[in-house]
Order: sequence, then C-alpha cells, then structure tokens
Amino acid sequence: MKTIGLIGGMSWESSVEYYRIINEEVKNRLGGLHSAKCLLYSVDFDEIERYQQEGNWEKAGEVLAEVAQNLEKAGANFIVICTNTMHKVVHHIEQKISIPILHIADATTAQIKEQNYHTVGLLGTKYTMEQDFYKSRIESNGIKVIVPDKHDREVVNKIIFEELCLGKVSSISREYYKQVIDKLIQNGAEGIILGCTEIGLLVKPEDSAVPLFDTTIIHALEAVNESLGE
Ligand code: GLU
Repeated sequence: MKTIGLIGGMSWESSVEYYRIINEEVKNRLGGLHSAKCLLYSVDFDEIERYQQEGNWEKAGEVLAEVAQNLEKAGANFIVICTNTMHKVVHHIEQKISIPILHIADATTAQIKEQNYHTVGLLGTKYTMEQDFYKSRIESNGIKVIVPDKHDREVVNKIIFEELCLGKVSSISREYYKQVIDKLIQNGAEGIILGCTEIGLLVKPEDSAVPLFDTTIIHALEAVNESLGE
C-alpha cells in the first residue's frame, strides 16, 4: 500500500471528510482492520485565505510547496491537495518535489468522461469558477464547463467562506444552491461539479435533478485507487 500525503486544512471541515472516506474505502476493499497509510499536514487556513484575497498566489504556492516537501520527506509516495482552489498553484508545488500530485480536476474529468457528459455546471470558490486554471483543464478534454452568473457566483463563494469553511450548514443556503443548480441545468448542464471540497457538506444528490460530481469523494477515492494500485 502506498502512503498518501494529504495537504489539508483548507478547510479542515473538508479534510475530515477526506480522512474518513479514504479510511472507509480502504477498509471496504481490504476488510478487517485495514486502514489507509496516510500523512495529513493541515495548514492554518487563515494564512492561506489571506494570500488568496491579496492575490499573492506566489506566496501561497511557496507555503504549500514546503508542506509537500515535508510530506515527501516523511514518506508520502504521492500528494493529494484537499482543495480545488489551491490547485491554482499545483505547478509551483510540482517543481519542488519528486513525487506525483493527484490532480483533483483530472480525477473529476475522468468521471465525467465515463458518464459521457459533454456539458457540466461548476460550483466552487470565485477563483475556481472565474479563473482559468481549473475550467481549462477540464475543457481541454472536450467538456464544456458553465458557471453561474456574477451575482450567483458571489453568493456561492460567500457561503463557502463565511459558512461551510466554518462548519455552518444552513438550509437557507442549501435552497439557494438548489436554485443555482436549477439555473445551470436550464442552461444545459448534464451534471454538476461540486468543485469546492466543502459543498458536499451542504448539497446532496437529492438536491439536484442531474448527477453531482462531488470532488471530495472523487478525489479521495482516486487516492485510494492510487494507494492500492487499482
Ligand atoms: N476547499 C475549497 C476548495 O475546494 C475552498 C477553500 C480554499 O480556498 O482552498 O476550493
């Protein structure tokens, strides 16, 4: 079994999910007392979120690259960055380590392709929905990615940072997300990417008329595949 190196804490609310899903899946597959070999380096999200707001991705990349180096030194065989947004600095991190990074957008793209979908809606932070680093990676596979309008993007983003990353799950916000999902479906989405690792805490499959691609679950299961060589 390969050792998974998790870069977490962004937020820790979702890192808990990664840890739980990964261990449950290893137990399901191997049975008995089996559990995942993994290292979790959990950062202080306040620091990272400040760099995001300042647009100082360089510095955020440096911090996460150092974390990845420490995980490699500690024995990780590959890296899992437990946030969609911080994949913006994936190249920064890759340059500083000699072990691979399991990219969250690639794992998600593989699932979308398996379902043979051509158009998907994307929910995530404003960085993930508005900037190019994430959408273009998926679109380079011939999949069209559509995002909510500006106002909805602002509210979706606000709910992530002011509620979900603080462990607050509200039914009012769930209703809002459901409306945003409905609009994406009206605009042609055949599936919805929950492209922020906390959204799955709020939105469940029954909240959407089309299938959800929950990046936390997809990424965590892909980490298990990689760890067990499956
Ligand atoms: N966990 C979130 C994501 O998947 C948002 C937190 C962050 O900005 O890293 O994008």
